[in-house]
Amino acid sequence: MHLSNLHTHTAYCDGKYGAEDMILAAVNSNFQSIGISTHGPTPFFSDWNIQAGHVNKYIEEVTYLKEKYKSSIEVFLGMELDYIPGIGFDELSLSLIDKLDYYIGSVHYLGYFKNGVMWTVDYNLDELTRGINECFKGDARMAVETYYNVISEMAFKHQPPIIGHLDLFKKNNKENALFDEREEWYVRAVDSCLDVIKNTCSSIEVNTGGIARGYTTEQYPSTFILKMIREKNIPIVINSDAHKVDGIDCKFDEMYSLVRSLGFEKLNYLTKDGWTTQNLN
Ligand SMILES: [Zn+2]
Ligand SMILES: [Zn+2]
Repeated sequence: MHLSNLHTHTAYCDGKYGAEDMILAAVNSNFQSIGISTHGPTPFFSDWNIQAGHVNKYIEEVTYLKEKYKSSIEVFLGMELDYIPGIGFDELSLSLIDKLDYYIGSVHYLGYFKNGVMWTVDYNLDELTRGINECFKGDARMAVETYYNVISEMAFKHQPPIIGHLDLFKKNNKENALFDEREEWYVRAVDSCLDVIKNTCSSIEVNTGGIARGYTTEQYPSTFILKMIREKNIPIVINSDAHKVDGIDCKFDEMYSLVRSLGFEKLNYLTKDGWTTQNLN
């Protein structure tokens, strides 16, 4: 097995450790490769995205570490870029795509509060409920459908190498506080989104970050969605969305077993010559 994790955060964003610490954790876990994917810059203030003025330093640092550790592990320079409703990837993010080895396209922001500040689907239930009230007249279904439409738009326009945590919206939906994933409209929204993704070159990640940080009991995306992904033959990668060194390989063994049990035969992974696949058996 080629062990890898392409979704890791650093202190440049809301990660707790430096890029070098994350690389050393991957070496200690016998990974063959690791991608550093700090949250990309946004065109407004955010305390969890990299500041625009730090981007060059980040690129220089990871490029230096790539060289420093090349005999122990392959390091890839990535970012998790925010696709923002009404903006898309902002100008700076777009200009970075060619400088990165890969990127993860993710949707966290979904709308503006009445005070003009953007809210995200994954902060906490209070913020999410307020966002749904202020932008969608309290209609959670409309918010969820909009969220999947924004992911579809991102996939259609940009085909990100990896689509991040597809059903992130469920993070704050504990005990079905806002909706039930088994409802027909929800499954239909996911299905339409997957139909867009299957006609792109994107992979969908199986992301254990919600479990690692104690927010969810299940990976992103939920198992029933993984079954749909399998049926549509969309490629997958397994990532942990690590914000700490000890989350570097969170639940990877369980995820290998899970995807095998669902009939997946291959995983995508990145090499210095581009994307390739490996057998899961
Ligand atoms: Zn994310
Ligand atoms: Zn992330």
